Amino acid sequence: MSPSNQPPPQRGGQVVIGVDLGGTGTRVVALDSRGEVRAHQTVRTPRTASGPGVLAELIRAVAGDAAVAAVGIGASGPVDARGVIRNDDTLAAFSHIPLTGLLEAELGVPCAIENDAVAAAIGEATYGAAKDSADVLMVTLGTGVGVSVLLGGRPFRAADGTHPEAGHIPVPGAPAACYCGLATCWEQLASRTALDRLTQGRTAELAGIAGYDNDAAALFRQYGESVGFGTSALLTIFKPDRVVFGGGAAAYLPHFASGLDTALHRAGGFDVSTPYSEAALGDLSGAIGAAVLASDTTPAVTLTHTSKK
Ligand SMILES: [Zn+2]
Repeated sequence: MSPSNQPPPQRGGQVVIGVDLGGTGTRVVALDSRGEVRAHQTVRTPRTASGPGVLAELIRAVAGDAAVAAVGIGASGPVDARGVIRNDDTLAAFSHIPLTGLLEAELGVPCAIENDAVAAAIGEATYGAAKDSADVLMVTLGTGVGVSVLLGGRPFRAADGTHPEAGHIPVPGAPAACYCGLATCWEQLASRTALDRLTQGRTAELAGIAGYDNDAAALFRQYGESVGFGTSALLTIFKPDRVVFGGGAAAYLPHFASGLDTALHRAGGFDVSTPYSEAALGDLSGAIGAAVLASDTTPAVTLTHTSKK
């Protein structure tokens, strides 16, 4: 068992399960009725047709001797209005199938599903860095750039029910053609992948010397300005009261904050500056948010958390 895993709870009772179903890894958490994480485990995401069965077994293992009350899933990529994952790139084994129905039949409890960026925002808004905010912009700086917006505590959705794919906002200076077909996408500059490209794979090493090495500091400043391009556009449109940065690059926020501030600065009267911070729940934001989602859509289950109403 890796250091990131906690053993299953030993005390029985009831738990709500949250699943962060990512293209590479899958995290499962068990929350008790107070919203405390009682157990969690991370595994490589199954890639075969037996994936849903493997997931059900993992859920049982994390629950331990506690009864599972409900299951919530935050899935990478598009989730349609019927709750079906449509991600042939990284979640083919879970796409185009009635995943929630399969898990409900297997586990005998209600199962809810949402996009993973939305789940992460719900997690942070309920127990993390945005728990005092109703209007939240969450930007995940990972393999790509994921964005979700909560307005009045509820996810903003496009007309077709999906969340905004705002990693593909056009920005100046994007270095590479994007898989979406455009050549100017924000995520080509602002993802964790882009940061590692900028530092030639030496991100952690350069962060260690950026306090006294001007060249290293300049790279983080440049990255911060890139993060600021899309963030500025989103702040202009949505005017949230809190921005939360998650994903692998968020840990470097202290190093790239000055570049970010430069990109966000505007003349008086046009100010879009909004308090921002790193995700407080770390890499568990999505799984914890998925558990909150499960409890919110299941009247029989209540987690104790701050109301956004
Ligand atoms: Zn794109």
